Parts: sequence; C-alpha cells; structure tokens
Amino acid sequence: MTDTVIQLIETGARVTRYCETCKDHGEIDLERIRRVRGDDFPMLDHLPLCTNGDCIGMIRFKASLGMRSRWLMTAKGHERFQRHSDWAFTTKNMAIKRQVQRERRAKQSPPMREAPRG
Ligand SMILES: [Zn+2]
Repeated sequence: MTDTVIQLIETGARVTRYCETCKDHGEIDLERIRRVRGDDFPMLDHLPLCTNGDCIGMIRFKASLGMRSRWLMTAKGHERFQRHSDWAFTTKNMAIKRQVQRERRAKQSPPMREAPRG
C-alpha cells in the first residue's frame, strides 16, 4: 500500500493537511495534486514543509474514510516527522529567547558600561 493519489481518489477518501507548528489545516484537493503530480504520486510519507508565512513546520496528511481516519505515514514517516518537530520546537524556542534578550537589552538605558577607572 503506497496510498497514491489515484488510490485515495478511488476509495473516496478525504485528505486533510495539518501543520502542528502553526496549526494550519484544511482539506486538500486530490484531483489538483493528481493533475500536477500524476496518478501514481505517493501520498504515504509525503511530508512537505509548511509554506504558511515564515512557519518552519512540517505538513502531515490524514486520510478519512467515513468515520475512520489515519495518518498517511509509515513508522519511518512518523520518525521523520518527530525529528523535524523536535528541531522546529528548539528553533522556535531559540528565536523567542533571542527576542526576549534583545528586548531586555533595549530596555537597559543607558547601556551598561564598565565603571571608569582611576
Ligand atoms: Zn505551519
């Protein structure tokens, strides 16, 4: 099972994209992907980077059929996603810390200097 675009269309699945980082989500147009990428484009472990603003997250796809839904990922895909999420989390936290530090420095006026000698 490779969950190609055509297989998903033929089973009548609905596919939704999710970004864990910016929480962007929505149903995707399988027909459009099929036209652009071809019938056999594999959706399984297809994990593109999020293009929402300056988001550094990774997109996951979920296929729903009636009440049942599943991530279009193998164990390997889950692992890749987890690694990216850890990286994104660290990177985001670093950016926040830097921002806080910049703001703190900007507030220190006049800037701290060494005491004049002599
Ligand atoms: Zn995102």
